Amino acid sequence: MTTRGCLFLGGRWQAPRDGGTREVENPATELVIARVAEGGPRDVDAAVHAARRAFPSWSGLEVTDRVAVLERWYDELLAVHDELVATTVAEVGAPVVIAREAHVELGLAVLRGYLDASKDVAWEEQVGSSVVLREAAGVAACITPWNYPFYQVLAKLGGALVAGCTVVLKPAELTPLSAYLLAEAADRAGLPAGVLNLVPGAGSVVGEAMVTHPDVDVVSFTGSTGVGARITALAAPTVKRVCLELGGKSASVVLDDADLVAAVTGTVQAAMLNSGQTCSAWSRLLVPASRLAAATELAATAAAGLVLGDPLDERTWLGPLVSAAQRATVAGFVDRAVAAGARVVAGGSARPAPVGHFHAATVLAGVAPDAEVVREEVFGPVLTVQGFDTDDEAVALANATAYGLHGGVWSADPARALGIARRLRTGQVDVNGAAFNPSAPFGGYGRSGNGRELGRHGIEEFLETKSVQR
Ligand code: NAP
Ligand code: MG
Repeated sequence: MTTRGCLFLGGRWQAPRDGGTREVENPATELVIARVAEGGPRDVDAAVHAARRAFPSWSGLEVTDRVAVLERWYDELLAVHDELVATTVAEVGAPVVIAREAHVELGLAVLRGYLDASKDVAWEEQVGSSVVLREAAGVAACITPWNYPFYQVLAKLGGALVAGCTVVLKPAELTPLSAYLLAEAADRAGLPAGVLNLVPGAGSVVGEAMVTHPDVDVVSFTGSTGVGARITALAAPTVKRVCLELGGKSASVVLDDADLVAAVTGTVQAAMLNSGQTCSAWSRLLVPASRLAAATELAATAAAGLVLGDPLDERTWLGPLVSAAQRATVAGFVDRAVAAGARVVAGGSARPAPVGHFHAATVLAGVAPDAEVVREEVFGPVLTVQGFDTDDEAVALANATAYGLHGGVWSADPARALGIARRLRTGQVDVNGAAFNPSAPFGGYGRSGNGRELGRHGIEEFLETKSVQR
């Protein structure tokens, strides 16, 4: 049992002023593994003031000097790689192979991408008679979800800190432990006092105190669309910049000339990665109607072949969902889909294990285009399969949700694939399962949000623009 009784405020580890503590559960064992401090509004106020005090000197450094400090932070994080992996396995329930690659190493690659991209920002630019300066936007409030807790924090802090902002961070209540490792590493790396402040706690208390605080300039939020909309409204009276990274309902479009086995297997893996708790998961498989039966069978076989079990076992690929509530939400989607006529061709909502919040990798066929499970984000290991007759119909189906985060196109013809990618109303598209690029801008269209994280674009989220005429 770990105890994390303090918040990190102004460079010091301090007990909460008006909060309490909260238990953290391991979702695979359902055992309490830690007790963590929870802040309250007075802690947020203290954190914002500490960030405000640190802002002039941190933002006033040369970029290269800021990056030098952040390079030490990167090295300190590398040094605790194994502890980060173990913590991610314990607090998220992520299988150790997924925790290592998709959580910790990808998170580190994102920080690396930000440090390298610091050279690509046009910090000063001549526009006619003006010199245009890019300057840090101020104090940033960063609010992150539980699905990839380490990665999500770095996707914000990397951009904010390179930009010269100072930060108040609220990690998700379910998964605060990796944020402690991040803050401790920053402390050891010599990040100046107040540049990073950590205030775990409830979104409704700590989160709302952050987004309404008059001395916060930028809110960077990753989470659900509903909370994103609420935050936007709460931040409006003080005219904050609000950067939103929200949910998704992404489609993988398999064209008639694609390698069906590679396309379907790749889609199933992407849909089920991290037990489907991935904002950019391809949760809809779209295939030519002539290949629907074959694709459905391939998807069912691929899903059934994913090894579910103990996250500590190197052979496990599918861990539990993060909480009992999340398991109940996912099972509810599956049960309602079946009641509406969907066919379960793999998995289903029954508990596959007596202990832990496990849900089997589930493939649903026979779903109507307007079914709830086709339109709403499930955020669990659930994939629907639909057929289409023409490329136009495929594009129309892919675009037929309010979201627009990610998409996939599979084709033997690169030009045709790019043509379809251009027509998808999403912030990302992978052709033939191409690898994630930790330096390319990541964000959504429509109800998937308005922000862009990672690389140069992610730094620019935290910059203001000033024109000086001479
Ligand atoms: P969530 O409920 O929206 O929570 C996200 C964060 O916001 C948590 O830290 C939460 O605190 C906090 N929060 C909740 N209510 C708040 C309020 N009224 N004011 C301020 N902060 C508040 O989302 P989630 O359930 O953790 O995560 C799943 C969602 O995130 C999915 O929709 C997923 O698609 C989305 N997501 C998007 C991306 C992306 O990059 N686009 C990436 C990952 C996830 P608590 O800890 O108290 O809940
Ligand atoms: Mg939530």
